[in-house]
Amino acid sequence: MTSALRVLPLGGLGEIGKNMTVLEYEDRIVLVDAGLRFPTPEMMGIDLVLPDFAYLRGRVSDIEAIVITHGHEDHLGCLPFLLRELGVHDAPPVYGGALTMAMARSKLDEHKLSKDVEVIDVKDGEMIEAGPFDVELIHMTHSIPDASAVALTTDLGTVLVTGDYKFDQTPVDGRPADVTRLAELGREGLLLLCGDSTNADRPGMAPSETIAGPNLLDVFSRCKGRIVVTSFASNIHRVQQVVDAAAALDRKVCLVGRSMKKNTNIGRSLGHIKVPEGMLIGPRDVAKFPDEKVVVISTGSQGEPLSALRRMAYKDHPQVELHAGDTVVFSATPIPGNERAVNETIDRLYHIGCDVITTKDAPIHASGHGYREEIKLMLNLTKPRYVMPFHGDFKRIHLHGKLAESVGVAPENIFKGENGLPLQIDAKGARFAKKEQSGMIFVDGVDIGDVTDVALRDRRMLSADGIFVVVATISENDGSSVGEPEVMFRGVPFVDEADKVRDQLRASVERTLDRAAKDEIREIDLLQQMLHDDLAAFVYDKLKRRPMVLPVVVEV
Ligand SMILES: [Zn+2]
Ligand SMILES: [Zn+2]
Repeated sequence: MTSALRVLPLGGLGEIGKNMTVLEYEDRIVLVDAGLRFPTPEMMGIDLVLPDFAYLRGRVSDIEAIVITHGHEDHLGCLPFLLRELGVHDAPPVYGGALTMAMARSKLDEHKLSKDVEVIDVKDGEMIEAGPFDVELIHMTHSIPDASAVALTTDLGTVLVTGDYKFDQTPVDGRPADVTRLAELGREGLLLLCGDSTNADRPGMAPSETIAGPNLLDVFSRCKGRIVVTSFASNIHRVQQVVDAAAALDRKVCLVGRSMKKNTNIGRSLGHIKVPEGMLIGPRDVAKFPDEKVVVISTGSQGEPLSALRRMAYKDHPQVELHAGDTVVFSATPIPGNERAVNETIDRLYHIGCDVITTKDAPIHASGHGYREEIKLMLNLTKPRYVMPFHGDFKRIHLHGKLAESVGVAPENIFKGENGLPLQIDAKGARFAKKEQSGMIFVDGVDIGDVTDVALRDRRMLSADGIFVVVATISENDGSSVGEPEVMFRGVPFVDEADKVRDQLRASVERTLDRAAKDEIREIDLLQQMLHDDLAAFVYDKLKRRPMVLPVVVEV
């Protein structure tokens, strides 16, 4: 048992996504967040990316609590997979704000785990005892209600994991971040601050969420036909502001998309969204109302392939058909990596004859992450001894470190970490310890973690350079080639000289088989390996490409 406190990020550093942090003291663990990431285009056929939580395997009984800062997928999405993989039998309780926990329950329900796991709503200021840790949630503002920072106190001091935050002075629900409590932590002496770095590259302060409302109303009031607004389904305050703008113009509201309906329902049941009686209509009823009387709120702001807006844009939505005169309003900006999918969706909408309004046309979106001055404010309020920037790629982590220096944190007390690298703090000070296993686990359909790097590499090769399949038949007696080898290819970019290359490949196969027969190599696996190596070299030589080469040897 070590007497040091360990802070081990398993995700969220060097990337924006899959946040998960292990805090460990006296061999007991509190886990803060269990998030996921969406795959990049090279991760073909992968649905979700999870942090590698091998560190926690076999240690489920050491985990005192899982605390979730807020309901976004990059903080909550891994929870059902994590609990299923670690084993739910003695699963630790899951804690968080009311909305966050309602979303957690809904996820666990979908994975049929809700009976086995205790999910506990925590109010701000309430203390959770978790082994050697006292855990407290501190209310913050973000692009989803009920976002919290987590303060974890041991006899070494207090660590604050901020979660995602901005200092919104005029939040839609009138509940600004609890700066008083943050300042108290600072006065008591904060040991370590692990803060959100997302907007460490943006000067100034983030605009308040409430700026979106009047601008949405302004945009809506100029629309003659139907209005379709797309935003993140979890941005419940944004949905509220769309509802308010619709109400002001006497338009009905229709929710489209599974997560939009689900999150809005959860939000309504907890009082975060108020929709006037009789205002909501079903998707089938949209056509029954005059165009100028309808606002549709839809998922798909990121161009997601199966989302409602994408399907509407491709005229493939079962209930809502868009037509010329409709205006589609993007009340969100694309997350880096999604720009292409969003642009494709927008272009399709123009093709139908819709008008499209984005955040470039009007200030109808506000980031949920504080800008540079807010990061400095957090540092000044909490006055940490040590700083470990979280939630950012290496550039943003670096910039966050610079901001800490600018407000007077000693450079040697700023720890720019990476996933798997534990910061160890004891009475003598803080230092990085030996690296632990970290990385990515892939979810491919229903399977988790089964997709090896090999499968991904194969998919990449197939998509980039195509495939050659060579079927060679050899004689059982002497291993000589019987008949002509068959050569097939798909997706290989050299159509013009296909026949010539096919002949050359056949000749190359024959040469390899002759050589093998002479050397009395008859084992099928070995023959296939030889064919593979010779053909791959030959193809690379001819085409300067590396398609997948799949030789099949049959003995007759
Ligand atoms: Zn986040
Ligand atoms: Zn977030």
